[in-house]
Amino acid sequence: MDLKNALYKRFELYAKIDTQSDEASKTFPSTKKQFVLAKMLAAELKAIGAKRVKLDKYGYVTAEIPATVKGRKPVIGFLAHMDTSPAASGKGVKPQVHKAWKGGDIVISRRHGVILNAKNCPELAGCRGEDIITASGDTLLGADDKAGIAIIMTAAEYLLKHAEIPHGTLKIGFTPDEEVGQGVKYFDVKAFGADCAYTFDGDVAGAIEEENFNADGVKITIEGKSVHPGTAKNAMANAARIAADIVAAWPENMLPETTEGREGFIMFTDIAGGTEKAEVSGIAREHDLRKLKAMEKQLEAITAAKRLKYPLAKIEVAFREQYRNMKEVIVKRPDIMGKLKAAVRQAGLEPHVKPVRGGTDGARLSFMGLPAPNVFTGGYNYHGRYEWVSLDGMNKSAEVLINLARKWAE
Ligand SMILES: [Zn+2]
Repeated sequence: MDLKNALYKRFELYAKIDTQSDEASKTFPSTKKQFVLAKMLAAELKAIGAKRVKLDKYGYVTAEIPATVKGRKPVIGFLAHMDTSPAASGKGVKPQVHKAWKGGDIVISRRHGVILNAKNCPELAGCRGEDIITASGDTLLGADDKAGIAIIMTAAEYLLKHAEIPHGTLKIGFTPDEEVGQGVKYFDVKAFGADCAYTFDGDVAGAIEEENFNADGVKITIEGKSVHPGTAKNAMANAARIAADIVAAWPENMLPETTEGREGFIMFTDIAGGTEKAEVSGIAREHDLRKLKAMEKQLEAITAAKRLKYPLAKIEVAFREQYRNMKEVIVKRPDIMGKLKAAVRQAGLEPHVKPVRGGTDGARLSFMGLPAPNVFTGGYNYHGRYEWVSLDGMNKSAEVLINLARKWAE
């Protein structure tokens, strides 16, 4: 199946529209400009013949592909997000295709010195001979997640044109604000009406994800005691220094910069304060919930020891739940991953199940009652100028979607 032309045409069109989300915004969606793409997608869904096309006030675009078989089949959803990361500019994106990559340097921009190769990105090594899309050196590419949108739209068009392919009712959802962690906040799972869903959001061909971090926020507050430094002996508690002492006491092998794979960490993201008062903010991340709690106990033990060391200070530590590992929801429905793995194999790839070192919209949806593992889109190096996506990987991803539609109707 070769959908590369259609995929590229769509991707290029979407990538050129600036849809950057904004962490500081108080509105939903966080930026108005995401509606530009949302409106375009709604019109396009109508044009390709999708039914029940809707764009609501939150910016959610939803649609339906009617069943081609009779009888009750599970309703399957396919989701991708429209926004791009606030971490790099998404304005004036100029995609370029590096045809049939031979394995050497991919010059994204000579002027900016942005050169991509298998040395600075080992994940690229598996894409020899493929068409690689990058931006042009001063922006991100936005394949995260416009590749996902192009894949879903192109597969939807294919399914609508080929009524001989047997499938049940399929639902499509395009969401805003994933990159600022709010993407599915107002998403109406019940109205969407799917039994399960797949997000198409990132990673190299073959990668599928059913597992993400358990995440808690960390806050340490220290009340010190300010005294004139000339007469401070045995009388002062310097909150700022105590904060530094606690942060330094955390093991160096449990930090984001020293861990990978399934290893958890606590990251201290911010230290603020002075002699009287100091506050340390942080994040705790671990795939295994018991290990997350154990790590938090370890930080509590450190602060308890510091209380003894600094009896004049008041030290508190608190944790706040942020999100949970969707695996606990997804394992209860083994057919969701089972059919996905079979669909990936049918596309000629070996499925590679990767734990996400972060959160996903799918995680939140899973706990809202819509289990939603993630499917690769064929790209990597997201959120920056080195971002790339393989057009062949996107083609495989579209094939996986079509295979999934068939498999759920068997
Ligand atoms: Zn994404």
